[in-house]
Amino acid sequence: MTPPMTQLIAALPPLDEHHVDRRRHPHGVAFMDGQYLPMSEAKISVLDWGFLHSDATYDTVHVWNGRFFRLDLHLERFFRGIERLRMKLPYDREKIASILNNCVALSGHRSAYVEMICTRGSSPTFSRDPRQAENRFIAFAVPFGSVANKEQLERGLHVAISETVRIPPKSVDPAIKNYHWLDLVKGLYDAYDRGAETALIVDTNGHIAEGPGFNVFVVKEGSLRTPAYGVLPGITRRTVFDLCANIGLSATAADIGGAEIKGADEVFITSTAGGIMPVTRIDDAAIANGRVGPVTRRLMDLYWQKHDDPAWSTAVSYP
Ligand code: PLP
Repeated sequence: MTPPMTQLIAALPPLDEHHVDRRRHPHGVAFMDGQYLPMSEAKISVLDWGFLHSDATYDTVHVWNGRFFRLDLHLERFFRGIERLRMKLPYDREKIASILNNCVALSGHRSAYVEMICTRGSSPTFSRDPRQAENRFIAFAVPFGSVANKEQLERGLHVAISETVRIPPKSVDPAIKNYHWLDLVKGLYDAYDRGAETALIVDTNGHIAEGPGFNVFVVKEGSLRTPAYGVLPGITRRTVFDLCANIGLSATAADIGGAEIKGADEVFITSTAGGIMPVTRIDDAAIANGRVGPVTRRLMDLYWQKHDDPAWSTAVSYP
């Protein structure tokens, strides 16, 4: 059971930031401009380059049963993105980890979706020079969310392959996690038009790339493959590689064509928003016998087991 908010606040370390009363805002807690706020009050200026130009990077980590999953990898990817976009933050990794912890602790959620964002910000003189902008850090913790709902996790998702091309890596480096999602959202509408539940879009060579918020894997004759080019190197994707190494399954990153994915024995998608999620239908065809396959099930089980393992997860410090 979650302790009362007053206890939560009283037990938090004395920070310079203000704290909020969660009884008024159960949907989550944000941190910005040095303060913890209810989600409904976390707002940025319309002049922020993050809003006007998608000039931002972010990362999302989840908390499951009161533990962050692979927080170190998420922080590493976030800080690499900030550096490559030539942004600067006044906080180091430890401080950001403690802010994320406090957002979760203040929200009281045992399972949460936790986002850290760095935007270019805006310039006090409205300069068009990005070097003049004051970069902005925002974090928030909201209840855990998943790409696939409970029913879809049991029976597998129905995915459509859209011909929409993912923004090329030479334009926007996909290793810098970003909000360039117009291609992914177009893919989603294509999928809905065809009666599917979500989408995969293609890379500039016509191979399968990724979907709105997830990577994809195929299983063929016991070996796994995931696209290598033009995709975000997802932490869940990386976790699948690690799990495969643990149990002696072969997993490689290499091109996957449309015919190949439809002819796979099993297909699944991976995301912090839901973990490993089965796909049993692509366009009009069932994958194999249309049921969730044994490799997918085994990896799903292992993935969630690792959430209690201190080598893969860190406890949230709830007061
Ligand atoms: N691909 C894209 C475009 C994403 O936005 C995400 C996550 O949001 C992923 C893949 C999956 O990455 P991760 O496993 O780190 O959540």
